[in-house]
Amino acid sequence: MHHVRFVTAETEATPACSLCSAQNRPWDKIATKTYCPHCMESLAVGEAEPLIVRTEGRRCAVCHQQGTLRYLTHPLHSSKPVEIDLCGEHLRALIARRLGPHAFAQLRRQLVTLGLNVSQIFLLHEAFYDSFGRALQPAIDLS
Ligand SMILES: [Zn+2]
Ligand SMILES: [Zn+2]
Repeated sequence: MHHVRFVTAETEATPACSLCSAQNRPWDKIATKTYCPHCMESLAVGEAEPLIVRTEGRRCAVCHQQGTLRYLTHPLHSSKPVEIDLCGEHLRALIARRLGPHAFAQLRRQLVTLGLNVSQIFLLHEAFYDSFGRALQPAIDLS
C-alpha cells in the first residue's frame, strides 16, 4: 500500500474537532481524531495536549521507519481526502511546518504520483515552504 493515498470521503456527518468540539467543515485528522485549524496550531506550538495515539505497523512516507500515524487532509479542489503515513517525528514536523527539504521533497514526489500539487495541501503550500522545500514559517515548539 502506498504511504500517500486517496481515501474515500466520509459519508457520515462532519466530525467535530476532538479538542474544542467546533464543527464546520471536514477538517484534518490525526489517527482517528479530528482537529480544527485552531487546535492543529495549538498542537504545532505544543500548547495542546500532546498526541498520545498508538502507532500502526506501516512505514513512514518520509523515512520508511516502521510505526506510523495517519494524517488525513482535504486537498484543495480534490473530491477525496488524502491520507499520509508518518512516523511521530515527521508528523510533528509536518504539523509544525518545519519539515526539512528532503522530507518535503519526499512528500511532494508522492503527492505528484496522485496528481496532486503541494500547493493544494494546506500544511505544505507555498506560504510555508519555498520551492526548495525550505520552511518559511515554522511554528515555535514551546514544549
Ligand atoms: Zn478545535
Ligand atoms: Zn518518518
